[in-house]
Amino acid sequence: MLRLPFALARGFVVAETLDEAIPAVKKLCDKGLLTTVDLLGEHLIRRDLALKGRDAYIRLLQNLASEPGLERNISIKLSMIGQIVNEDFCLENLRALLEEAKTLNAFVRLDMEGSPVLASTLRIFESVFPDYRPHVGIVLQAYLKRTVADVEHMCDLGARVRLCKGAYREPATIAFQRMPEIRTQFITCMQKLLQHGHYPAIATHDDALIEATKSYAREKDIDSSRFEFQMLYGLRQKTQLDLIQQGYNMRIYVPYGRMWLPYYVRRLRERPENITFLLRNIFRA
Ligand SMILES: Cc1cc2nc3c(=O)[nH]c(=O)nc-3n(C[C@H](O)[C@H](O)[C@H](O)COP(=O)(O)OP(=O)(O)OC[C@H]3O[C@@H](n4cnc5c(N)ncnc54)[C@H](O)[C@@H]3O)c2cc1C
Repeated sequence: MLRLPFALARGFVVAETLDEAIPAVKKLCDKGLLTTVDLLGEHLIRRDLALKGRDAYIRLLQNLASEPGLERNISIKLSMIGQIVNEDFCLENLRALLEEAKTLNAFVRLDMEGSPVLASTLRIFESVFPDYRPHVGIVLQAYLKRTVADVEHMCDLGARVRLCKGAYREPATIAFQRMPEIRTQFITCMQKLLQHGHYPAIATHDDALIEATKSYAREKDIDSSRFEFQMLYGLRQKTQLDLIQQGYNMRIYVPYGRMWLPYYVRRLRERPENITFLLRNIFRA
């Protein structure tokens, strides 16, 4: 299989191995940033590979727990632990991971992937949530037309939600395509989460949405300890630190691993400026 040089992804992906990733995660923590670590990998269609994915996630939690001062917070993709193979198989693997999370008092966020696995992801989440409430959270994507209803449902359940715009190509039948509409829906969802959610995460690099969140919290007298902002590793580092200075919780999503290509392509697609970033890295390599 073609292996592209890691230098291409540097800037978006912290490292290819956990040993290299851990010092970088520590540096973020030293700056007062919160972290969630993601072992990259998705869409595994073989049972044996999905079991390896589950074991790798378990080892990741154990490694984070063995490092003093590191947060036990990871983000995972269900398609890495068998969702494409069989939903019950995936559920079994997730339960094994969440048992470890419970033992280690850790937190596992289920990233949301493309719409073909959306219903299955929500079903799996709701199936494990009653048994692992403090240890598992979900992601909802503001570009999907159904998401306001999903936000309300998750607020009723008391689930921890990360709200993001959404990173996959989705058809106009189910998803808003234009940025003003996506922003409007993001704001509606953010307001519901701030008012009725359980420690929601507002995941965006978009100044308009960050400002809307801050001003809604001020207006409704919602303390900054009741929610957090989240951003991706490598993006808007000054803004990350500014938000901490202003008294907000700021969590960085830190991806590492050898299967970085799909994640990296999603980042390139999001912003044309990221192509410049890519070219700079190629010439530096
Ligand atoms: C922590 C985290 C977790 C995520 N998890 C998921 C997930 O589980 N599933 C999923 O589908 N998606 C996920 N995403 C990706 C998300 O859905 C979006 O695709 C991605 O965040 C881009 O949208 P945005 O709101 O950040 O801003 P963009 O749409 O990229 O940018 C909007 C505007 O923000 C400003 N801006 C953005 N970046 C910069 C910059 N570097 N410098 C200056 N201005 C900037 C500019 O004004 C820009 O026009 C996640 C994102 C984050 C931050």
